[in-house]
Amino acid sequence: MATLKTLNFDNSYLSLPENFYQRLHPTPLKNPFLIGFNPDVARLLDIDPCAVDPSIIARYLGGEALLPGSEPLAMKYTGHQFGVYNPELGDGRGLLLGEVVNKKGERWDLHLKGAGKTAFSRFGDGRAVLRSSIREYLISEAMHGLGIPTTRALALVGSEELAMRDGMMEPCATVLRVTPCHIRFGHFEHLYYTRQHDALKVLADYCLERYFPECLAAEKPYLAMYSEVVKRSAALVAKWQAYGFVHAVLNTDNMSLIGETFDYGPYTFMDSYKPDLVANGNDHQGRYAFANQPSIIQWNLSCLGQALLPLIERDDVVAVLDHYAEQYKQAELAEFRKRLGLQLQNEGDEELVMSLLKLFALYSVDMNRFFRCLSDFDGSDEAVAALMTLTQVPSGLSEWLLAYEQRLELEVASFPIRRAQMRAVNPEYILRNYMAEEAIRAATAGDFTLVHDLLMLLRTPMDESSEFSRYSTAPPTWAGGISLTCSS
Ligand code: AMP
Ligand code: MG
Ligand code: MG
Repeated sequence: MATLKTLNFDNSYLSLPENFYQRLHPTPLKNPFLIGFNPDVARLLDIDPCAVDPSIIARYLGGEALLPGSEPLAMKYTGHQFGVYNPELGDGRGLLLGEVVNKKGERWDLHLKGAGKTAFSRFGDGRAVLRSSIREYLISEAMHGLGIPTTRALALVGSEELAMRDGMMEPCATVLRVTPCHIRFGHFEHLYYTRQHDALKVLADYCLERYFPECLAAEKPYLAMYSEVVKRSAALVAKWQAYGFVHAVLNTDNMSLIGETFDYGPYTFMDSYKPDLVANGNDHQGRYAFANQPSIIQWNLSCLGQALLPLIERDDVVAVLDHYAEQYKQAELAEFRKRLGLQLQNEGDEELVMSLLKLFALYSVDMNRFFRCLSDFDGSDEAVAALMTLTQVPSGLSEWLLAYEQRLELEVASFPIRRAQMRAVNPEYILRNYMAEEAIRAATAGDFTLVHDLLMLLRTPMDESSEFSRYSTAPPTWAGGISLTCSS
């Protein structure tokens, strides 16, 4: 087992052309202290979670000392923000500390978010505040617990340093983000729009080798890679739609090449199903509303396709993009089949799902509580009554339940088996904004217990916990008043 001091660094990104990044060290935070440490992510890096010393972690992740073997750098990328190309982006407040190769041969990027100013900071202070760092730390684990591809987080470090956000001073923090991939669509856009087509090929070859080795044998490897990115992105957004997740800042610089949920901001799990929900107070046009996400991802994929035109024929890019809508539809249907406990595929399934989503939208149903409750549906009056309470739409729901019961007759699994299958995909807990908000309020007052408890609860969100049963019930009324923005 390794410790933080003996991590097996091997920093392949440094082999890329020097103008892909700026090398620099983190700027130390004032009096850093450890708030949260994620043992599951530690194990990914071969770190023995029992052998960690909080003060040492705080020193490293507070920027006071460099992890042995770390060669930090800020990556250059650009991207389309709210539909407009911005050439000035890059890691403005985060540094890639390096890559750790574990005993299994897996290569993990360690990225310290909130590490201070870089060449790409523009008007920013290079910092991340505690509030948004808690949100990123918790959601990374919550998404993973739900089986939704995501970056992870090893640790959360607080400090006595303050930064100004929306006219108020807030404490600064860092999050150590862990994922195989920090390459964004915007990395390719940068090289395309600055006409560095040779360098674009170098980056594409690096990505093929590192992330898509199976595509190297294809007749057209770059096309095979692009096609895989499209497929993974379709699968990812299908999961978001199936669980009511709004990313809220789907700019192309926040799109991971390997199809993980990436760069968390004012994300929201909907407490009640509203297709037009806009989770980001800065998104005045509603570009990133819940229902727009699948088409926005396609738009983002077309930006990536454009950037890859020096390497892929235009007709090939168009043909791959043409598949997206069908890939998305099939992936979405597959997600909902699982949530409904349907193992077989039947022609009427799409209609069954769509009519349920219509009911959700019409009556602002809490979809996640509904699916959890539906997992226990055995056709009894009690089961029907429980669902009725959640929907408050007796007539529409009875009709839908009749169709659902008929559909269940085609299935082979008995009720107990179906129930277990459904409970394994329909969480008891989901990270609702009010829960994150409670943790933030307590943390701001110096109590980090809830940050810790929520991390533990959300890593296995399908398991019921008597201690936290209040998080299975309807959100408090103040939850509806929470408003989030890009400020972080
Ligand atoms: P985000 O909204 O977090 O995806 O960030 C968009 C861009 O702004 C990226 O290039 C970030 O690195 C940069 N950025 C965001 N916040 C800050 C900050 N406080 N200081 C410097 N750069 C920042
Ligand atoms: Mg970003
Ligand atoms: Mg960000």
